[in-house]
Amino acid sequence: MGIRENLEGVRSRIARARRNAPDREGPLLLVGVSKGVGIERIREAVASGLSELGENRIQEAREKIPRFPEMRWHLVGHLQRNKAKEAVRLFHLIHSVDSLRLAEVLEKEGRCAGKTVPVLLQVKFQKNPEQFGIPPDEASGLAKKISGLEHISLLGLMTIAPFSEDPEKARPYFRRLRELKEAVAAERFPRVAMRYLSMGMSQDFEVAIEEGANLVRIGRAIFGERHR
Ligand SMILES: *Cc1c(COP(=O)(O)O)cnc(C)c1O
Repeated sequence: MGIRENLEGVRSRIARARRNAPDREGPLLLVGVSKGVGIERIREAVASGLSELGENRIQEAREKIPRFPEMRWHLVGHLQRNKAKEAVRLFHLIHSVDSLRLAEVLEKEGRCAGKTVPVLLQVKFQKNPEQFGIPPDEASGLAKKISGLEHISLLGLMTIAPFSEDPEKARPYFRRLRELKEAVAAERFPRVAMRYLSMGMSQDFEVAIEEGANLVRIGRAIFGERHR
């Protein structure tokens, strides 16, 4: 199937899932994750109406983003502090803030560039040392510290559910992220607007939307399987 058909299919599945969502108002952002995808296929997705794209590595992103300056780009992968400056320049939203030290470097780069850097906190629910993210019980404390950084705008939370063939297995994690977002929002920290709940990928985005996701990150269901 072509990318246009894939995208139409994903959009109608999103619309169907949204009928069961707790909050059906407000926009739902569809981010097409284009890691490992070539320029031609990205062009096809853009021509089919996709306006948000996501990458997980700076190295790959720096080649692609200048080719599509009209798009909004999301960093969905881990960010090393020595690449923070470039990330601030390239991306509209950084989903993967997972430490105060990273936030402080982003603050410095934001100040130098004269802009406010929009970020999400990445939360992980399992104690897997190979995965990035903060444990859920640290989210509020980190949000509070970040709220003291003038050039960072904290806009929500992101998670990657543990992989499973059965999307229902992801539901409890998505529900917990939604509850966590509401708990942080209730603290009313300055400069913190808990607007986005970034959760749901190709295999589980419908469950994520039913649990309140308003930003889904979808690669394979749009671009096809990756060959890497
Ligand atoms: C690759 C990736 C996605 C998209 O995954 P698919 O299974 O291709 O939909 C979403 N989020 C993150 C953080 C990713 O690395």
